[in-house]
Amino acid sequence: MHSLICRTTLSILCAWTIVRGQVSTDSLKIKAEKLSKEFIIVDTHIDVPEHLRDHWQDISHRTPDGEFDYPRAVEGGLNAPFMSIYIPAEEEKQGTAKKTAEMLINMVGKFVKDWPDKFAIATSPADVAREFKEGTISLCLGLENGAPIKNVRDVRHFYKRGIRYVTLTHALDNHISDSSYDTTHTWHGLSPFGKKLVLDLNRTGIMVDVSHISDDAFYQVIAISKAPIIASHSSCRFFTPGFERNMSDDMIRLLAKNGGVIQISFGSDFLSQTYRESQAAMRKNITDYLSSHNLVSRTPEARTFAKQYRKEHPIPHADVKDVVAHIDHVVKLVGIDHVGLGSDFDGVGDSLPVGLEDVSKYPNLIYELLRASYSDEDIKKICGENLLRVWSQVEGIAKVLRAKK
Ligand SMILES: [Zn+2]
Repeated sequence: MHSLICRTTLSILCAWTIVRGQVSTDSLKIKAEKLSKEFIIVDTHIDVPEHLRDHWQDISHRTPDGEFDYPRAVEGGLNAPFMSIYIPAEEEKQGTAKKTAEMLINMVGKFVKDWPDKFAIATSPADVAREFKEGTISLCLGLENGAPIKNVRDVRHFYKRGIRYVTLTHALDNHISDSSYDTTHTWHGLSPFGKKLVLDLNRTGIMVDVSHISDDAFYQVIAISKAPIIASHSSCRFFTPGFERNMSDDMIRLLAKNGGVIQISFGSDFLSQTYRESQAAMRKNITDYLSSHNLVSRTPEARTFAKQYRKEHPIPHADVKDVVAHIDHVVKLVGIDHVGLGSDFDGVGDSLPVGLEDVSKYPNLIYELLRASYSDEDIKKICGENLLRVWSQVEGIAKVLRAKK
């Protein structure tokens, strides 16, 4: 009898604990939902224009693929996505960089023209704040790859066109900077023009973006820039040793000292070493098979084999908790004021983390931040306030620098 009472008491206790756990999980989820609508969410890197370049879809409605559209952005509480005006690295040599930039900027302009009740262009933090109140999504513009900028007139031109950050290069060294993906080291950092450009961007009020550039180039930017800088979509190299595209602890410390912000990128290969190693092993297996069967890569047969192999050997993705781990790492290194979000939605293939598959999922990230005991005020900073602070400072410093001339 005694043991029966004990067992009964125990099961009641267990049930109560489960119910209580459920209640607290549910209430945190409700709170995360609420905060996602109350706070301004800024995401500094979304590749919609590139995604739609060859594959037009009506993003004012829910689209069958892609990771950004109006209904899902509203669902996720996204307020200020930076549309990436992405210039493929090879376009510098082809001479088409400027034409591509104009075409993609026009495309974003057309979103606003066609759907003015849904989208508006934002060229300042003040625009973002006003449009947030008005209930439209602020489309901000970032130029990913400075290839179209050849002189200071181009800087002014793209400022007038709405560009508010410039990623100095992309996957290859260009006339401005070395790239983290290119082993040529053409300039050992920035070119002479690149060094001048950093100051021109400061004076014009355009944020300098250090994502994609080499380490040497980063250290030169940080020494030259008179204004805080951003990494529009980079994560922490601490978790992916040797991956220069992510930022080392030393670089994050210097970025924070400069007042800047690192916007964490969501691609699994930016977040997880396990994913990177599995991916490398898969690539090796595919290459070995192709060479042992005398198949040339990029031919239709090779592509079919690679596609089938990937389907049969899926690699487990990172998940939303990994993004929180990267945010935690930055916070522990330099405090809460220097980290934000730069997803790279529509830009990282199918490598997005579980729980962050598209722009409707920011509440999942907020939920994990709440679970990790971040305060509402901290979450507000991560979601957008930090980036908006840097943007305002860049505007203010530009005015001061121009007044000095
Ligand atoms: Zn990129």
